[in-house]
Amino acid sequence: MDYINKIGEEIGKAAKFISKETGKLVESAKLTYTASDIESQLEKAYASVGKKFIDSCLHENNIPEQLTQEFELILELKKALGDAKDKIAEIKNTKKCPACSEPIAESDAYCKKCGAKSE
Ligand SMILES: [Zn+2]
Repeated sequence: MDYINKIGEEIGKAAKFISKETGKLVESAKLTYTASDIESQLEKAYASVGKKFIDSCLHENNIPEQLTQEFELILELKKALGDAKDKIAEIKNTKKCPACSEPIAESDAYCKKCGAKSE
């Protein structure tokens, strides 16, 4: 009888252990998701601050010396984007938004992307 009690006790211990380990896995999965969500929000916040900073530097024509290469790349990419949007507008036979360069249908009075009045 003692032997059977001991087996029961061991099974109980094992079940508790499994339950505890499962709980840890669930908690870890939840925290991984939370951390990943926070990282994504942080990246968006960095990008937003970066864009405002870059736009302000370009507007004031005051490019920090240590970021010259990054700014050159950004200017190249902006030009390439403008060229691509020009070609899209040409192919689709549309006009270009004066504010954001998005192609706008001839019939649209406002840009669907930024809301600027079309010319
Ligand atoms: Zn626009």
